[in-house]
Amino acid sequence: MRTTFLPFSPPYISREEIDEVVDTLSSDWITTGPKTKRFETEFATFLGAESALALNSCTAGLHLALVVLGIGSGDEVITTPMTFCSTVNVIEHVGAEPVLVDVEPDTLNISPSLIEKAVTPKTRAIMPVHYTGHPCKMDVIIKIAREHRLFVIEDAAHALPAQYEGKAVGTIGDLTAFSFYATKNLTTAEGGMLTGKRELIEKARALSLHGMNRDAWKRYDKGGSWYYEIDAPGFKYNMTDIQASLGLQQLKKLDRFQERRHEIVKRYNEAFSGCPCLETPANLPSVKHAWHLYTLRLNLKTLKINRDQFIEEMKERNIGTSVHFIPIHLHPYYCIKYCYRPEDFPVAYSNFLRLISLPLYPRMSDQDVDDVIEAVLSVVKSYRR
Ligand SMILES: *Cc1c(COP(=O)(O)O)cnc(C)c1O
Repeated sequence: MRTTFLPFSPPYISREEIDEVVDTLSSDWITTGPKTKRFETEFATFLGAESALALNSCTAGLHLALVVLGIGSGDEVITTPMTFCSTVNVIEHVGAEPVLVDVEPDTLNISPSLIEKAVTPKTRAIMPVHYTGHPCKMDVIIKIAREHRLFVIEDAAHALPAQYEGKAVGTIGDLTAFSFYATKNLTTAEGGMLTGKRELIEKARALSLHGMNRDAWKRYDKGGSWYYEIDAPGFKYNMTDIQASLGLQQLKKLDRFQERRHEIVKRYNEAFSGCPCLETPANLPSVKHAWHLYTLRLNLKTLKINRDQFIEEMKERNIGTSVHFIPIHLHPYYCIKYCYRPEDFPVAYSNFLRLISLPLYPRMSDQDVDDVIEAVLSVVKSYRR
């Protein structure tokens, strides 16, 4: 057994990121400026997206997406319970109503046939979440959106880089939001990126910096002007050049990071797929998985312990784990406001009870991976029925 604790998801920051941040800190400009601009361009090129806007979070990107598409009071937005709270919080922020539909049993991604059933005359948008980095069935979702004239706003917090039928996530829906939070596949400590058509991105850009028109950050340049106008009451959602410094260097390493993630997933799948107590994650042939998370599902009937006890046993063995996610409808705010019962979304709820996320990050050594495998198999062996 390990003698030191293996954390669930530490960042991978090396000399290159540190040097780039120091370079920015030693310059005359530390907030939104030339490095943020360069990060946007390089990120858009990496995905093949028309345009990109760097922000201080993915949550900010999702919020701006709803605002620029004019979604607000009286509107409905269809999304999934199997997500982080911010996907749904932003729908509340704009005064619209989140309409949750259950997920598919294999990928735990939003079910297209249930989306179709949930569309009403008030529906304005669909917000799919690419759970764990496995893309949703975007061909069907786009088709439903076209038929009913709905916008598609993708929560791609886990899905960098992912592809659906050869198309990069970030180039499919109307707007797509990525997260660079500390645990994500690419990190700027806190940060996000919104991708989409140039016209929408430029609207979002103005709103991300108070609603100032013109290239607001240039106003302190020699060629800049002190004059600006406010076209709308915007937000303070801009990324800083310090964050962009991290992003620029992390983007260069992303392909290598992903290779390592895929290697670790292969080792986990090989170790766990024969075990009747464990269900390994789905990976449909139509996608390129971003493998942000590796989620095992416990076959609870074959075990004497529940998922929470399994997590404690892993902790005893010095392995950090987590749960993704506590479904939205179980959180008091949503549960009370919309009178949800746990069984309202049976697939999300029953899977929540048996999900456990294992450590998965490029910094893991082969020994770390072996330690996780050994710990999982040892818990199973001790508590098998
Ligand atoms: C992390 C995460 C977010 C929020 O990202 P921030 O950059 O922290 O705002 C949104 N949705 C999902 C599914 C996430 O995992």
